[in-house]
Amino acid sequence: MARTTQVPLLVVGGGLGGLTAALALSSRGIPCHVVEKSPQFGEIGAGLQIAPNASRILHRLGLFDAIRGTAVFPQQLVMMDAVSGERVTSVDLGRAFLERYQQPYFVIHRGDLLDALLAACRSKPSITLEAGKALARIEDTADGADAFFADGTVYRCQAIVGADGLHSSVRRHVTGDEEPVCEPYVAYRGAIPIGAISEHAGMDSMMYWGGPELHFVQYPLRGGEMYNQVAVFRSRRFDPASQDWGTPQELQESFACTCAPVRKSLEAILLNRRWPMVHRYPIAQWTRGRVTLLGDAAHPMLQYLAQGACQAIEDAVCLARKLSESGLDYERAFAAYQAARYLRTARVQTSARFFGDYVMHLSGVNRLLRNALLASRRADDFSALDWLYGHDA
Ligand SMILES: Cc1cc2nc3c(=O)[nH]c(=O)nc-3n(C[C@H](O)[C@H](O)[C@H](O)COP(=O)(O)OP(=O)(O)OC[C@H]3O[C@@H](n4cnc5c(N)ncnc54)[C@H](O)[C@@H]3O)c2cc1C
Repeated sequence: MARTTQVPLLVVGGGLGGLTAALALSSRGIPCHVVEKSPQFGEIGAGLQIAPNASRILHRLGLFDAIRGTAVFPQQLVMMDAVSGERVTSVDLGRAFLERYQQPYFVIHRGDLLDALLAACRSKPSITLEAGKALARIEDTADGADAFFADGTVYRCQAIVGADGLHSSVRRHVTGDEEPVCEPYVAYRGAIPIGAISEHAGMDSMMYWGGPELHFVQYPLRGGEMYNQVAVFRSRRFDPASQDWGTPQELQESFACTCAPVRKSLEAILLNRRWPMVHRYPIAQWTRGRVTLLGDAAHPMLQYLAQGACQAIEDAVCLARKLSESGLDYERAFAAYQAARYLRTARVQTSARFFGDYVMHLSGVNRLLRNALLASRRADDFSALDWLYGHDA
């Protein structure tokens, strides 16, 4: 057997969830070692929305000074009808929103948030980081678990947190379940220099355009240097066994019914990579003894409510608190963490699907009904959002 390294608490995956977990653990005096399979810690070139349920956590973890310079704080979220071009409703993200939730809604380049987390982790002696280290499998031991890596090394751990995303290897050990579910929807997305787009809604607005089996999201990034666009549509040629569906040509066909401003903006969308909408259905059990899951490894969701990373951030602080409260009784803490989180995350997973199917992607009379019902909604009516944004994990 290869040489075995002793690791008290191993976090597998150095994405937004894993690094936030490391920081949250450190803030409670709990050391951890983070392994990341990619040669470097990093994120893709796209934007991320962070709602107050997560921004209050980033604030408490002391990250705001590092991200304030690059984050954009929009003043409104506007929902538009992608076909008629009419304004459907909006959410005021200004003073009334701040008063209600105490923390802002902001948008940030994923790389900027990851860099801020990474710098904060590197400044903490209790966090050690190792890139280019891919977990292959886990075996339970009498008092923890052994992590076996692709490079042939083995870490003997007292406990393991799987923050290794949608195709989590840790999850395979914990739940033994099948591959994630692929929906017939696909996204094209990315951040582009703002000069590449001829018309946009300005620095203060996030735009959500909803249409028949499609939606389109736009917002500024990096103090207005960049613009993030996400186009999502249902493919008619969906075939989970192949890659030949959800093509750029289908994107054009699907969006042919949309209004001129959407079609114009779509000309600048990045087409170099497609993102099939992949998720898993909620589960109640994502802990096994001294191994647990966090973020997309536990509850990957459709991205329609922009909450996947926000929920990973919520998980991170809840996990750290339960570990601290238990005096590092890992099994008790992991069970308590799961109990505190699974219904909350299941609700977000289910609501994301609902928002896509029954609000954003409507056609025919249902689209008109949506517009008519939402027309009388006030921009400072936050009653439908309290459960999501008011939550303090
Ligand atoms: C189009 C789109 C838009 C989105 N927009 C938003 C948004 O606006 N707001 C929001 O909150 N969420 C959004 N999300 C969701 C969000 O991106 C994810 O929920 C979030 O990134 C999950 O973070 P994570 O750390 O759990 O997983 P990941 O970000 O997937 O990180 C997992 C890490 O683990 C590493 N890893 C994987 N396997 C191994 C292994 N075997 N060994 C070691 N390391 C491993 C990976 O390399 C990766 O770095 C969006 C998603 C999509 C698809």
